[in-house]
Amino acid sequence: MGQIKLTNVKKSFGAVDVLHDINLHIDDGELVVFVGPSGCGKSTLLRVIAGLEQVSGGTLEIDGRRVNDVTAAERGLAMVFQSYALYPHMTVRQNLAFGLENSKMPKAEIAERITEAARMLEIEAYMDRRPGQLSGGQRQRVAIGRAIVRRPVAFLLDEPLSNLDAELRVSTRAELAALHARLSSTMIYVTHDQVEAMTLADRIVVMRAGRIEQVGTPLELYNKPANRFVAGFIGAPH
Ligand code: ADP
Ligand code: MG
Repeated sequence: MGQIKLTNVKKSFGAVDVLHDINLHIDDGELVVFVGPSGCGKSTLLRVIAGLEQVSGGTLEIDGRRVNDVTAAERGLAMVFQSYALYPHMTVRQNLAFGLENSKMPKAEIAERITEAARMLEIEAYMDRRPGQLSGGQRQRVAIGRAIVRRPVAFLLDEPLSNLDAELRVSTRAELAALHARLSSTMIYVTHDQVEAMTLADRIVVMRAGRIEQVGTPLELYNKPANRFVAGFIGAPH
């Protein structure tokens, strides 16, 4: 569960081609980071995988099944945004339960999943607070918790730490790495921050102007950058 395969995936907005022939195979349980300068198409690629945007060409498969025409809700993925997107009028517990309650899941199972996620993220102490009463780091954990309770086949995270201050970013990054190790589920993580990419990733996908420049482990990219752009971006000597 959690294999994602893109074959010649293209995306245009009107006459503007934003993604050109993206080919990528993500393995079950991998933590893959999409990195590249602002505007290179990272968010668009994530949204295409999530099903929030339709592809303009090519094939998208999840666990061997073609999902081009499958709705976002039915793809079994969970997306976490930088803006948290929590409901301000609901408590943390209600934010976590929302979405599951619409799925006709038994109440006992919803409660069990919420308890488990709360324990995993250490947010038990503020389950009855509203987002406005939480710090940025706590809100981000709740946003991740809302994804966890859905038990998705993969997590898609778009710059989840970019609203946090530098110190909190480092600690939350470490928590995310630990969470990935514990859940062992596929994660795709988008960032424009090279340090984040190098410290988190099993494999890094370096993007530029809607194309993949190179895919490899942090060490491979550092030791053998495919070109000057990758070398410059990853910060390797060249
Ligand atoms: P990144 O996340 O790497 O910063 P994006 O995927 O957000 O980049 O954007 C890539 C390009 O696609 C940008 O030029 C952006 O303006 C364009 N773009 C993104 N979404 C839309 C949209 N809905 N309509 C038109 N252009 C878009
Ligand atoms: Mg983006």
